[in-house]
Amino acid sequence: MQIAQNTVATIDYTLTNDAGEVLDSSEGRGPMAYVHGVGAMIPGLEKELEGKAGGDNFDIRIAPEDAYGQRSEELIHAVPRAQLPPDAPVEPGVQFQAETPDGTHTLTVVKVEGDTVHMDANHPLAGVALNFKVDVREVREATAEEIEHGHAHGKGGQEH
Ligand code: ZN
Repeated sequence: MQIAQNTVATIDYTLTNDAGEVLDSSEGRGPMAYVHGVGAMIPGLEKELEGKAGGDNFDIRIAPEDAYGQRSEELIHAVPRAQLPPDAPVEPGVQFQAETPDGTHTLTVVKVEGDTVHMDANHPLAGVALNFKVDVREVREATAEEIEHGHAHGKGGQEH
Protein backbone atom coordinates (compact mmCIF):
# COMPACT_ATOMS: atom_id res chain seq x y z
CA MET A 1 0.00 0.00 0.00
CA GLN A 2 1.25 3.47 -0.87
CA ILE A 3 1.13 6.62 1.19
CA ALA A 4 -1.81 8.72 -0.02
CA GLN A 5 -4.53 10.99 1.33
CA ASN A 6 -6.08 9.48 4.48
CA THR A 7 -3.60 6.70 5.01
CA VAL A 8 -1.65 6.26 8.23
CA ALA A 9 2.07 5.96 7.63
CA THR A 10 4.49 4.78 10.28
CA ILE A 11 8.00 6.12 9.81
CA ASP A 12 11.38 6.18 11.49
CA TYR A 13 13.21 9.43 10.97
CA THR A 14 16.25 11.42 11.94
CA LEU A 15 16.26 15.19 11.52
CA THR A 16 19.54 17.08 11.32
CA ASN A 17 20.47 20.66 10.47
CA ASP A 18 23.06 21.52 7.83
CA ALA A 19 25.80 21.28 10.48
CA GLY A 20 24.85 17.63 11.02
CA GLU A 21 23.48 18.16 14.53
CA VAL A 22 20.54 15.87 15.35
CA LEU A 23 17.48 18.02 16.11
CA ASP A 24 14.98 15.21 16.45
CA SER A 25 14.81 11.47 15.90
CA SER A 26 12.45 8.57 16.39
CA GLU A 27 15.39 6.50 17.60
CA GLY A 28 14.80 5.33 21.16
CA ARG A 29 11.15 6.39 21.00
CA GLY A 30 10.01 4.07 18.26
CA PRO A 31 8.50 4.89 14.87
CA MET A 32 5.99 7.73 14.54
CA ALA A 33 2.55 7.27 12.96
CA TYR A 34 0.73 10.16 11.28
CA VAL A 35 -2.31 10.70 9.08
CA HIS A 36 -1.22 11.69 5.59
CA GLY A 37 -2.79 14.65 3.81
CA VAL A 38 -4.32 16.46 6.78
CA GLY A 39 -1.54 18.98 7.29
CA ALA A 40 -0.02 17.18 10.27
CA MET A 41 3.37 16.96 8.58
CA ILE A 42 5.52 19.81 7.28
CA PRO A 43 4.65 20.35 3.60
CA GLY A 44 8.05 19.53 2.08
CA LEU A 45 8.23 16.20 3.89
CA GLU A 46 4.62 15.26 3.23
CA LYS A 47 5.15 15.83 -0.50
CA GLU A 48 8.15 13.49 -0.53
CA LEU A 49 6.32 10.80 1.45
CA GLU A 50 3.44 10.73 -1.04
CA GLY A 51 3.44 7.43 -2.95
CA LYS A 52 6.09 5.73 -0.79
CA ALA A 53 5.45 2.25 0.63
CA GLY A 54 6.65 0.18 3.57
CA GLY A 55 10.36 -0.62 3.17
CA ASP A 56 11.12 2.56 1.21
CA ASN A 57 13.71 4.94 2.55
CA PHE A 58 15.01 8.31 1.44
CA ASP A 59 17.01 11.35 2.42
CA ILE A 60 15.68 14.79 1.76
CA ARG A 61 16.80 18.36 2.44
CA ILE A 62 13.87 20.71 2.93
CA ALA A 63 14.42 24.44 2.47
CA PRO A 64 13.06 26.69 5.25
CA GLU A 65 10.17 27.93 3.09
CA ASP A 66 8.86 24.34 2.80
CA ALA A 67 9.41 23.70 6.50
CA TYR A 68 8.89 26.32 9.21
CA GLY A 69 9.35 29.39 7.03
CA GLN A 70 11.96 32.13 7.02
CA ARG A 71 12.76 34.10 10.13
CA SER A 72 11.07 37.47 10.37
CA GLU A 73 12.66 40.31 12.36
CA GLU A 74 9.13 41.70 12.79
CA LEU A 75 8.40 38.80 15.10
CA ILE A 76 10.88 40.05 17.68
CA HIS A 77 8.97 42.08 20.26
CA ALA A 78 10.07 44.16 23.22
CA VAL A 79 7.90 43.40 26.24
CA PRO A 80 8.05 44.73 29.80
CA ARG A 81 9.57 42.26 32.26
CA ALA A 82 6.43 42.69 34.38
CA GLN A 83 4.37 40.88 31.69
CA LEU A 84 6.32 37.67 32.26
CA PRO A 85 5.77 35.32 35.20
CA PRO A 86 7.61 36.90 38.15
CA ASP A 87 9.33 33.69 39.20
CA ALA A 88 10.48 32.69 35.70
CA PRO A 89 14.17 32.92 34.85
CA VAL A 90 14.53 35.53 32.10
CA GLU A 91 17.72 35.22 30.14
CA PRO A 92 18.66 34.62 26.51
CA GLY A 93 17.58 31.20 25.29
CA VAL A 94 14.76 30.73 27.79
CA GLN A 95 11.45 29.85 26.11
CA PHE A 96 7.88 30.68 27.06
CA GLN A 97 4.63 29.29 25.67
CA ALA A 98 2.08 31.94 24.72
CA GLU A 99 -1.57 31.13 24.06
CA THR A 100 -3.00 33.15 21.18
CA PRO A 101 -6.26 32.83 19.20
CA ASP A 102 -4.41 30.88 16.48
CA GLY A 103 -2.68 28.43 18.80
CA THR A 104 0.30 28.05 21.07
CA HIS A 105 3.46 29.91 20.15
CA THR A 106 6.94 29.51 21.51
CA LEU A 107 8.62 32.76 22.48
CA THR A 108 12.36 32.76 22.98
CA VAL A 109 14.16 35.41 24.98
CA VAL A 110 16.89 36.93 22.80
CA LYS A 111 18.03 39.91 24.88
CA VAL A 112 17.30 41.55 28.25
CA GLU A 113 17.81 45.30 28.62
CA GLY A 114 16.87 46.52 32.08
CA ASP A 115 13.11 46.01 32.43
CA THR A 116 12.68 45.31 28.72
CA VAL A 117 12.79 41.78 27.39
CA HIS A 118 13.21 41.14 23.66
CA MET A 119 11.19 38.06 22.72
CA ASP A 120 11.45 36.18 19.43
CA ALA A 121 8.15 34.67 18.24
CA ASN A 122 9.71 32.93 15.25
CA HIS A 123 9.38 29.16 15.31
CA PRO A 124 12.64 27.78 16.76
CA LEU A 125 13.22 26.03 13.41
CA ALA A 126 12.33 29.05 11.23
CA GLY A 127 15.12 29.79 8.76
CA VAL A 128 16.61 26.32 9.28
CA ALA A 129 16.94 23.83 6.43
CA LEU A 130 15.85 20.39 7.60
CA ASN A 131 17.63 17.23 6.55
CA PHE A 132 15.45 14.17 7.03
CA LYS A 133 16.51 10.55 6.80
CA VAL A 134 13.30 8.55 6.61
CA ASP A 135 12.49 4.83 6.71
CA VAL A 136 8.88 4.02 5.90
CA ARG A 137 7.80 1.10 8.08
CA GLU A 138 4.13 0.57 7.37
CA VAL A 139 1.20 2.12 5.53
CA ARG A 140 -2.48 1.42 6.25
CA GLU A 141 -5.88 3.02 5.77
CA ALA A 142 -6.75 5.65 8.37
CA THR A 143 -9.94 5.12 10.35
CA ALA A 144 -12.71 7.71 10.14
CA GLU A 145 -11.90 8.71 13.70
CA GLU A 146 -8.23 9.24 12.90
CA ILE A 147 -9.10 11.43 9.93
CA GLU A 148 -11.48 13.44 12.10
CA HIS A 149 -8.84 13.87 14.83
CA GLY A 150 -6.01 14.56 12.38
CA HIS A 151 -3.69 12.09 14.09
CA ALA A 152 -3.03 8.37 14.16
CA HIS A 153 -4.18 6.17 17.01
CA GLY A 154 -2.34 3.20 18.47
CA LYS A 155 1.32 2.38 18.13
CA GLY A 156 3.38 5.45 17.26
CA GLY A 157 0.32 7.70 17.44
CA GLN A 158 -1.96 9.11 20.11
CA GLU A 159 -3.94 7.21 22.70
CA HIS A 160 -7.28 8.65 21.63
ZN1 ZN B 1 -7.57 10.94 18.48
